[in-house]
Amino acid sequence: VKRVYRFGKDAQGSNVTEGSAAMKAVLGGKGANLAEMANIGLPVPPGFTITCQTCMEYANAGNVWPEGALDEIASYRADLEQRMGKRIGDADDPLLVSVRSGAPLSMPGMMDTVLNLGLNDRSIQGLIAQTGNPRFAWDSYRRFIQMFSNVVIGLDGDLFENAIIAMKQLRGAASDTDLTAEDLAELVGEFKRIFSENASPERYPALVADGQVTFPQDPELQLRLAVEAVFGSWNNPRATLYRQKNKIADDLGTAVNVQCMVFGNKGNTSATGVAFTRNPADGTKEFYGDYLVNAQGEDVVAGIRNTSPISELKHIEGLQEAGTELEEVFVLLENHFRDMMDIEFTIEQGRLWMLQTRAGKRTAASALKVAIDMQREGLITKEEAVCRVEPDQLDQLLHPQFDRSATYDVIARGLNASPGAAVGKVVFSAADAVAAAERGEKTVLVRWETTPDDLAGMIAAEGILTSHGGKTSHAAVIARGMGAPCVCGAEALKIDAEAKQARIAGTDIVLREGDVISLDGTTGIVVLGAVDLVEPEITGDLDTILEWADEFRTLGVRANADNPEDAELSRSFGAEGIGLDRTEHMFLGERKQIIQSFILNDDPESRQSAVDALYEAQTGDFYGMFKAMDGLPVIVRLLDPPLHEFLESPRALEVDITRREAAGADARSLAADRELLAKIDSFVEANPMLGLRGCRLGIVYPILPVMQVRAIATAAARLRKEGLNPHPEIMIPLVSTVAELEKLRGVAEATIAEVCEAEGVELSIPIGTMIELPRAAVTADQIAAKADFFSFGTNDLTQTTFGFSRDDVEGEFIPQYLAEKLLPYNPFATIDPGVAKLVRMGVELGREGNPDLVVGVCGEHGGDPDSIRTFHGIGLDYVSCSPYRVPVARLAAAQAAL
Ligand code: PEP
Ligand code: MG
Repeated sequence: VKRVYRFGKDAQGSNVTEGSAAMKAVLGGKGANLAEMANIGLPVPPGFTITCQTCMEYANAGNVWPEGALDEIASYRADLEQRMGKRIGDADDPLLVSVRSGAPLSMPGMMDTVLNLGLNDRSIQGLIAQTGNPRFAWDSYRRFIQMFSNVVIGLDGDLFENAIIAMKQLRGAASDTDLTAEDLAELVGEFKRIFSENASPERYPALVADGQVTFPQDPELQLRLAVEAVFGSWNNPRATLYRQKNKIADDLGTAVNVQCMVFGNKGNTSATGVAFTRNPADGTKEFYGDYLVNAQGEDVVAGIRNTSPISELKHIEGLQEAGTELEEVFVLLENHFRDMMDIEFTIEQGRLWMLQTRAGKRTAASALKVAIDMQREGLITKEEAVCRVEPDQLDQLLHPQFDRSATYDVIARGLNASPGAAVGKVVFSAADAVAAAERGEKTVLVRWETTPDDLAGMIAAEGILTSHGGKTSHAAVIARGMGAPCVCGAEALKIDAEAKQARIAGTDIVLREGDVISLDGTTGIVVLGAVDLVEPEITGDLDTILEWADEFRTLGVRANADNPEDAELSRSFGAEGIGLDRTEHMFLGERKQIIQSFILNDDPESRQSAVDALYEAQTGDFYGMFKAMDGLPVIVRLLDPPLHEFLESPRALEVDITRREAAGADARSLAADRELLAKIDSFVEANPMLGLRGCRLGIVYPILPVMQVRAIATAAARLRKEGLNPHPEIMIPLVSTVAELEKLRGVAEATIAEVCEAEGVELSIPIGTMIELPRAAVTADQIAAKADFFSFGTNDLTQTTFGFSRDDVEGEFIPQYLAEKLLPYNPFATIDPGVAKLVRMGVELGREGNPDLVVGVCGEHGGDPDSIRTFHGIGLDYVSCSPYRVPVARLAAAQAAL
């Protein structure tokens, strides 16, 4: 295997590059693009790249070099010296190199770099002689020892910074630049002493000479240790975490680029800078970036000195030519890579060198504008433009955000459950949130976890913060549905709801009711005090890209919504129907008492009167939904949750009874409450999510589906008479056998027929089922024979396939599973291949059983771009997601099709 590839020119000036931009998996992003730039004739300092595969072999062998690798590196080093006509470590004219990481996917700032490698006590003299600039030479040596000690050996950078500070104090120097060559030479001696005292002889036996650790003088040893350090940085905790967050595989490895140093700190005709070919914040077509005269790259990034805007560069005395050339390079790079590029460059004594280029990171607004402009400029196709915008990034445009120039201290972190930012006073109960809203106050609702009871408070609050629960917890799902910012599972929060306060573990901060906090659901952070917010920018560019996306996607996009406002919002975002109307969300607030009276009263009369009241209310609900979605399908799901969710908590009632008993309350009222408690207790199940819920409810209490279907059909009939075009569909949840579906289908059909008869209209209402249990998926052919459509409930399907409780696991063991790589990602956020296999089986069998079957998905996965790619591959007809995910899903569906 070939482990090393060279790039740049030979001594005669011919390009001898061996790689290209197509080789990112081998050479890493930086190495591949350095090769590409050399190939298109741009000035790239010569060097070579050690492959990513070598890094992985070295790491997998327990930090042991693969056979022959060091020899191959030595021969490329010799080749580089020959190409440059200089030798590393030479006493007369030394070659200096940089050693930089470069993974296949960009991991900015996560891994290590060493500059000025090759300096030692001999070559420093050569550098002085060649440059005639002892100060520059000693400064380079000092920087090298500092960087090598910190990055390669892991010594504390402060040891060296403190030595510099002490030297400056001694000399009365205000800044680093006031130190003379002699001062710096003295510092070099001091640095070497610090090195000897702190580097471990056990860990670095190669550095031990005469029984003492010394700073390595042998350039070959310097190079080997530096490359090993860069390899090692692939697995440092920072890089590992970054990969986990960004779903980058751990087995890619990093390449190492060894490249001749060029110096931007050789006086006023030298400079260094970073730039973008367009504005990465808003996409404007302009050169964007900063440079520093007489500086090295790290000075720009560290922000120690004030930089100047790149547009001025070509007007600066001594830099005009290089500045003009740089602008030509920007254009050339954009035309070649056909993307907005990010660039690092150095000008050494008037001569321009390109150190790096890659596709520039950009905000959502910039991504949209750049994609559209480049398509109009003829640089890219419409298809490419649609693929240039990250679907998840669109969230940035749809919710208020923390002002990017604001500064703040984070007091707690949780899961970024629902994007957007919120500022408000802390409240600890839904009732307090509602009361505050009535007073016109903005609040953040802080709960251990929310329940359906909290809904009114969740609507009243600006944002929701929980200390328990994951990304499909109640709080997260509802918040996303409402478009409300939510941070959940912030475990540092120790809430005492009764005392109306929360302690932040590990700090002495206590949040009390009324304290103002800010939360950012896009990043999952919580801040004490008010952070300035900026309104979402919904620009014409978003519309344009989404329209283009619609031209390419084959997956339909519907929304999960259960009230007319959300339905209208999702329609304005481009939803082509409602894929899931969770009717239990219509039984909250004052309706709760009606359903409670249904549940708790056995006598047929009070049952019937409760059902009549629910019928009236539901007819109005459906009328509003179908009207908002006129002409488009609305899938109404019959009641799904276990009934106890509508009842008081028996524990709270028990506590209350005990308390009142102790206070000598009236015996009759106590007896009545004890009876109520016994009744509620009879609804308590050990595993409610596996209990009396879904279609089982309709089978046990047929009066409920009859009521709901009658309301659906009646609302549709009324709208029809008003000249509108309603398209309701009826969905039966949690079916596991075809017999269940058949029975409830019969009930629904009979009810629809009665309504048609009574109202004098013809209604054709499709009846389908959710597929959210493994048994339903594997017997989908039988079930499909009785279904007009399937909708995969991947929340429950994930829950029942893994046997993971969707309400509990994410705060508990899933984080550990992720850390230990027992799971590659959270299966409640992105569809797991095993669950997807059941979906595929369900679709294939379902279409066998009923060729006209319409199939969609309405679990949380319906709004997740990675899952959407899977669903596209399986051949679903549509995905359904919360309103704010609709634009994201439209774009992701197009990208899946391209
Ligand atoms: C599901 O289970 O995926 C689903 C959409 O239903 P719910 O989340 O309401 O259980
Ligand atoms: Mg479900």
